[in-house]
Order: sequence, then structure tokens, then C-alpha cells
Amino acid sequence: MTLSEMRKILSEGDIQLTKSLGQNFLHDQNQLQKIVSSAELTSSDKVLEIGPGLGPLTELLVANAGEVLAIEKDKRLVEFLQKKFSGEKKLTLIHDDALEVLKREKRDWSGWKLVANLPYSVASPILVELAEMPGIPEKIVTTLQIEVAQRIVANADDDDYGILSLLMQLRYDPQGWFKIPSVCFFPEPDVDSACIVLNRRPAPLLNPEESELFKKIVKRALSQRRKMMLKLLKQDWPKEKLASAFAALNISVQERAEKVTLGDFVALTKILGTGSETAGTPL
Ligand code: SAM
Repeated sequence: MTLSEMRKILSEGDIQLTKSLGQNFLHDQNQLQKIVSSAELTSSDKVLEIGPGLGPLTELLVANAGEVLAIEKDKRLVEFLQKKFSGEKKLTLIHDDALEVLKREKRDWSGWKLVANLPYSVASPILVELAEMPGIPEKIVTTLQIEVAQRIVANADDDDYGILSLLMQLRYDPQGWFKIPSVCFFPEPDVDSACIVLNRRPAPLLNPEESELFKKIVKRALSQRRKMMLKLLKQDWPKEKLASAFAALNISVQERAEKVTLGDFVALTKILGTGSETAGTPL
């Protein structure tokens, strides 16, 4: 779908784009091809697409995968897509808010790949919601605001490292990313975008109960980036237990959480998860 085709569809359908729905449509064929090839699709793949818009990515997904489930919030776009793809048996279109669908229907996505150009406003909540499910997609290939992409793939001590990096990387191993300049979209967003590729870890680093605890530790430890992690964690865990965990993991008592690796957060979770004593606010 070229830029002029996009403009024509929008003007013929009298569709005014809605900024709050992140309606910046990708018209650059090279970038669309790059996204699809990053997903390494085969005819047996099932793909979840969130926010198909006018369907430029959907066309390629349908051509390369076995089944595509696309969830679009904007009724006008759903009506357009229903006509455009009428008779296409591989595609199921759902008119709904994808975040609500994910929260409401706790389905098993483990046999699926997420390939999407996510709306900026809900991209992080959608990815975190998916990453916290028991059955998570085997692969995520998604376009995001470049700053969000950098936060997801960041490592300890990087400027962008934080809660989002840790929550996503607990379940996913980042494979890389590429920049998509804003001129590739219509209308052009104020910021550049990036497509990230995440592979599900072959085995979970923590069990579901430990994962909940990991989230609480990470959120507390990174609640004030400039403060020492030990001081922050003392609000929830007894200082003796923390001191021995820090010593066992060779983490300095003065360390700030932004320097602590995913591996150390995982190990800390396992140690703090043994026994049930807590201090301060109950977990
Ligand atoms: N995939 C298209 C493309 O690449 O050109 C459109 C991508 S556009 C960045 C984001 C799309 O997500 C829009 O079509 C918008 O209407 C839709 N959208 C926004 N919020 C949504 C939500 N909560 N659930 C489902 N779709 C949503």
C-alpha cells in the first residue's frame, strides 16, 4: 500500500485520523518487508496483529502466515478492513480494545507470534500484559516509539535501563532492533520509531509465584533511581535477610538498582522468596 493509496482510502472514506489512537500508518514497503522477514513466518504460524489500521502489514502477514488474528479499536477501520479482506479465510478481525481483550481473555498465546505496529499510547501496557501471561507469544516483532524500544532492550547501567527492561527481559531475550524514520509513516509522528525483535526465553527464569515477587522487587528497587537499592528494599524486607542476600550475590550495599543485572534480580528474587518474613508494608 503506497502513500497515495493510503491518502485516497482516507479521503474517500472521509476518515479523519485520531491522534490519541496512535494512527500513524506505515507506508514504506521496505520497512514493512523488514518487519515481516524479522518475524520469520512460515505457513503454519499463527500471528496476532494489534492495530491493523488500513492493513498494510496485515496484507503481508496473511501472505506469509497460516492464520492472522487482528484486533482494531477504530470501528471505521474495522469496516474498511472487512471489505478489503472479505473472503480472506486466514484472517479473523476483531473490533475491540486489544488491551482489554488481553486482560479479559486469559488465553494461551504460546503458539502465536505478535507482529504489530503498536499504537504509541498503549504499547508498553500491552507488551507488559502479554509478557506476564502464563502462555506468552513465542516471538514479538513490533514497532514502537524509539525511546520505548531502547528501554525494552537496555542492559544494566545503560541510561534507558529500568522497570520495562526487566519486566520484558524476564520472559524475552531481545534479538535486536532497527530504526524506522518518521518519514515512513503517514501522518509523520514527531518522533522516530524502531522495530524490536524479542524471542521467548526457552525456559522461564522464574516460576509464576516468583515472577510476581520479582515484579515487586524491581518496582520497589527502581522506585527512586538515585537511591541505594538496599534502602528502598528495606521498606518491604527485613534488613538482615537483605544483607545476607546482597552478600551472597556480591552486590554492594551502596548499589543503585539501575546497575543491577537481570541475573542478579532473578537470584535476589529466589533468595527473598524463601521464608515468608517481611518488614514494613506487607507484600
Ligand atoms: N498497522 C497499521 C500500520 O502499520 O500502518 C496501523 C498502525 S497504527 C500505529 C496503530 C493502530 O492501532 C491504529 O489503527 C489504531 O486505530 C489502533 N489502535 C489504537 N489503540 C488500540 C487498541 N487499544 N486496541 C486495538 N487497536 C488500537
